Amino acid sequence: MSDCLFCKIAGGEIPVEFVYEDDDVVAFRDINPQAPLHTLVVPRRHIATLNDVQPEDAELIGRMYLAAQRVAADAGVAEPGYRTVFNCNAQAGQTVFHLHLHVLGGRAMQWPPG
Ligand code: 5GP
Ligand code: ZN
Repeated sequence: MSDCLFCKIAGGEIPVEFVYEDDDVVAFRDINPQAPLHTLVVPRRHIATLNDVQPEDAELIGRMYLAAQRVAADAGVAEPGYRTVFNCNAQAGQTVFHLHLHVLGGRAMQWPPG
Protein backbone atom coordinates (compact mmCIF):
# COMPACT_ATOMS: atom_id res chain seq x y z
CA MET A 1 0.00 0.00 0.00
CA SER A 2 1.72 3.13 -1.25
CA ASP A 3 0.47 5.56 1.40
CA CYS A 4 0.72 3.26 4.42
CA LEU A 5 3.13 4.51 7.11
CA PHE A 6 4.31 1.07 8.23
CA CYS A 7 4.70 -0.15 4.61
CA LYS A 8 7.01 2.83 4.09
CA ILE A 9 8.96 2.06 7.27
CA ALA A 10 9.19 -1.67 6.55
CA GLY A 11 10.23 -0.96 2.96
CA GLY A 12 12.95 1.49 3.99
CA GLU A 13 11.24 4.49 2.39
CA ILE A 14 11.09 6.13 5.84
CA PRO A 15 14.38 5.35 7.58
CA VAL A 16 14.15 3.99 11.11
CA GLU A 17 16.51 1.83 13.11
CA PHE A 18 15.34 -1.77 13.12
CA VAL A 19 16.04 -3.52 16.41
CA TYR A 20 15.21 -6.80 14.64
CA GLU A 21 14.49 -7.79 11.04
CA ASP A 22 14.16 -10.92 8.97
CA ASP A 23 12.57 -11.83 5.64
CA ASP A 24 9.05 -11.48 7.00
CA VAL A 25 9.04 -8.92 9.81
CA VAL A 26 10.76 -5.80 11.09
CA ALA A 27 10.80 -4.37 14.62
CA PHE A 28 11.43 -0.77 15.64
CA ARG A 29 10.88 1.48 18.64
CA ASP A 30 7.50 3.14 19.04
CA ILE A 31 7.70 6.91 18.49
CA ASN A 32 5.54 7.52 21.59
CA PRO A 33 6.70 4.86 24.05
CA GLN A 34 4.30 3.75 26.78
CA ALA A 35 6.96 1.81 28.71
CA PRO A 36 10.77 1.74 28.90
CA LEU A 37 10.61 -0.96 26.22
CA HIS A 38 7.99 -0.27 23.58
CA THR A 39 8.78 -1.89 20.27
CA LEU A 40 6.49 -2.63 17.34
CA VAL A 41 6.81 -5.90 15.41
CA VAL A 42 5.48 -5.34 11.89
CA PRO A 43 5.07 -7.74 8.96
CA ARG A 44 6.71 -6.51 5.76
CA ARG A 45 3.52 -7.41 3.87
CA HIS A 46 0.53 -5.13 4.31
CA ILE A 47 -2.27 -6.59 6.42
CA ALA A 48 -4.63 -3.92 7.78
CA THR A 49 -5.90 -5.45 11.03
CA LEU A 50 -6.02 -8.70 12.97
CA ASN A 51 -9.46 -9.21 11.39
CA ASP A 52 -7.75 -9.48 8.00
CA VAL A 53 -5.36 -12.28 9.00
CA GLN A 54 -6.06 -15.45 7.01
CA PRO A 55 -5.34 -19.10 7.85
CA GLU A 56 -2.37 -19.01 5.45
CA ASP A 57 -0.90 -16.20 7.57
CA ALA A 58 -0.63 -18.46 10.63
CA GLU A 59 3.12 -18.94 10.23
CA LEU A 60 3.64 -15.20 9.81
CA ILE A 61 1.80 -14.52 13.06
CA GLY A 62 3.97 -17.12 14.76
CA ARG A 63 7.06 -15.41 13.37
CA MET A 64 5.82 -12.09 14.77
CA TYR A 65 5.65 -13.65 18.24
CA LEU A 66 9.11 -15.20 17.85
CA ALA A 67 10.41 -11.74 16.89
CA ALA A 68 8.69 -10.28 19.99
CA GLN A 69 10.33 -12.95 22.14
CA ARG A 70 13.71 -12.00 20.68
CA VAL A 71 13.11 -8.27 21.18
CA ALA A 72 12.17 -8.88 24.81
CA ALA A 73 15.21 -11.08 25.44
CA ASP A 74 17.55 -8.54 23.81
CA ALA A 75 16.05 -5.78 25.99
CA GLY A 76 16.53 -7.86 29.15
CA VAL A 77 12.85 -8.11 30.04
CA ALA A 78 12.23 -11.78 29.20
CA GLU A 79 12.52 -12.97 32.81
CA PRO A 80 10.89 -10.00 34.64
CA GLY A 81 8.09 -10.07 32.08
CA TYR A 82 6.56 -8.12 29.27
CA ARG A 83 3.30 -7.71 27.40
CA THR A 84 2.38 -8.19 23.74
CA VAL A 85 -0.70 -6.47 22.31
CA PHE A 86 -2.55 -6.37 19.01
CA ASN A 87 -5.01 -3.49 18.99
CA CYS A 88 -7.78 -4.25 16.50
CA ASN A 89 -9.97 -1.43 15.20
CA ALA A 90 -11.44 1.63 16.86
CA GLN A 91 -12.57 0.46 20.28
CA ALA A 92 -9.16 -1.06 20.94
CA GLY A 93 -7.46 2.18 19.92
CA GLN A 94 -5.87 1.05 16.66
CA THR A 95 -4.53 4.12 14.86
CA VAL A 96 -2.19 2.64 12.25
CA PHE A 97 -3.96 0.23 9.92
CA HIS A 98 -1.02 -2.02 9.16
CA LEU A 99 -0.84 -4.98 11.52
CA HIS A 100 1.62 -4.52 14.39
CA LEU A 101 2.38 -6.29 17.64
CA HIS A 102 3.26 -4.02 20.55
CA VAL A 103 6.01 -5.34 22.84
CA LEU A 104 5.94 -3.50 26.16
CA GLY A 105 8.22 -4.03 29.14
CA GLY A 106 10.55 -2.55 31.70
CA ARG A 107 7.83 -1.64 34.20
CA ALA A 108 4.98 -3.36 36.04
CA MET A 109 1.85 -3.66 33.89
CA GLN A 110 -1.70 -3.14 35.13
CA TRP A 111 -4.55 -5.58 34.64
CA PRO A 112 -7.16 -5.16 33.34
CA PRO A 113 -5.68 -2.91 30.65
CA GLY A 114 -7.34 0.46 30.16
P1 5GP B 1 -1.98 1.40 17.47
O1 5GP B 1 -2.59 2.55 18.24
O2 5GP B 1 -2.42 1.42 16.03
O3 5GP B 1 -2.13 0.06 18.10
O4 5GP B 1 -0.42 1.65 17.51
C1 5GP B 1 0.23 2.48 16.61
C2 5GP B 1 1.53 2.85 17.25
O5 5GP B 1 2.38 3.39 16.25
C3 5GP B 1 1.39 3.92 18.33
O6 5GP B 1 1.88 3.40 19.56
C4 5GP B 1 2.22 5.08 17.81
O7 5GP B 1 2.93 5.75 18.81
C5 5GP B 1 3.15 4.41 16.81
N1 5GP B 1 3.58 5.26 15.71
C6 5GP B 1 2.77 6.08 14.98
N2 5GP B 1 3.50 6.69 14.03
C7 5GP B 1 4.78 6.26 14.18
C8 5GP B 1 5.99 6.54 13.47
O8 5GP B 1 6.03 7.33 12.52
N3 5GP B 1 7.11 5.91 13.90
C9 5GP B 1 7.09 5.02 14.95
N4 5GP B 1 8.25 4.46 15.28
N5 5GP B 1 5.96 4.73 15.62
C10 5GP B 1 4.82 5.34 15.24
ZN1 ZN C 1 1.02 -1.19 5.16
